[in-house]
Amino acid sequence: MIKKEFLEKIRSDEIEIYEDEPMSQHTSFRIGGKADCFCVVKESDVLKKVLSVCKEENVPFFIIGMGSNILVSDEGIEGVVIKLSGEFDEIEKVGENQIRCGAGATLAAACNFAKNNSLGGLEFAWGIPGSIGGAVYMNAGAYGGEIKDVVVSTRYIDENGVIKELNGKSHNFTYRGSYFTNRNCVILDTTIELSPKNKNEIFYLMQDTMQKRKSKQPLNRPSAGSVFKRPEGGVYAAALIEQCGLKGVSIGDAQVSEKHSGFIVNNGEASAKDVKELIEKIKVTVKEKTGIELKCEVKYIGK
Ligand SMILES: Cc1cc2nc3c(=O)[nH]c(=O)nc-3n(C[C@H](O)[C@H](O)[C@H](O)COP(=O)(O)OP(=O)(O)OC[C@H]3O[C@@H](n4cnc5c(N)ncnc54)[C@H](O)[C@@H]3O)c2cc1C
Repeated sequence: MIKKEFLEKIRSDEIEIYEDEPMSQHTSFRIGGKADCFCVVKESDVLKKVLSVCKEENVPFFIIGMGSNILVSDEGIEGVVIKLSGEFDEIEKVGENQIRCGAGATLAAACNFAKNNSLGGLEFAWGIPGSIGGAVYMNAGAYGGEIKDVVVSTRYIDENGVIKELNGKSHNFTYRGSYFTNRNCVILDTTIELSPKNKNEIFYLMQDTMQKRKSKQPLNRPSAGSVFKRPEGGVYAAALIEQCGLKGVSIGDAQVSEKHSGFIVNNGEASAKDVKELIEKIKVTVKEKTGIELKCEVKYIGK
């Protein structure tokens, strides 16, 4: 429960506030209990205000992007979930080959913007259903490319409410991780360096990427993409899961996808508990049969 005084302190024209908001409406898994408070923040001063009131009142906050890499507890999320929109959705060209993308903008919008400006290098990200903030936080990647290959600088609000900037290597990008992993910072925008490329060529590469996704991934079912990180040693989690006879196995409505064993899909009414139990079953079985410990890429959030 969120206090009325808290809501009064953060209320303004540049914020939408929803109490007891079902998180299943904001996650690609279509799973998750209610957030005490869900705020759509459209302006940076309002964002700073919300963060400072959270600190003052000791209310926890969670920044959500497109919700495509999280599993939210059936019991919901305590405190405030913040979604960036408005000015945070903007993308602009800055300098010859660079674009600055607000953290709330989708990767799809950034890919289209780059294509329309004849700038290549972001085609790998076409089809990743996340936001720029989520992509930088996770170092999202696919088909030989990663966000780390193109990011030059990122502005963010640190744990003390101060706006700072990271440049180049200080992003500490790792496989599906970055400087921001497990920190309470808010990414505001990121600047990406691309290179001039023929628009048609970019379009063709994007189409090709999407084709590969459609042929290999269960895109007709809610999921959070690949549940596990790729283990070290060049093996794929999906191959190990299949090898252990887990393809198609289900708990409740959560099922190891028949199309791509690295995905868990929601066949309708799956709960976070179902998905968690299925993840545990996969980890235990793969460890027993192959000795390899799978690590989760999907983040578990909430109570
Ligand atoms: C069908 C499907 C296919 C996918 N394919 C791929 C793929 O090929 N490659 C890949 O890497 N991933 C893939 N994913 C996973 C997911 O899309 C990526 O991890 C994506 O980068 C997550 O972005 P998001 O905006 O949805 O982040 P969310 O899931 O909303 O959040 C993820 C983390 O980022 C943090 N975060 C988000 N925005 C901010 C911000 N502004 N400031 C601070 N922290 C923030 C959140 O707090 C959270 O900890 C796939 C998912 C699906 C459903």
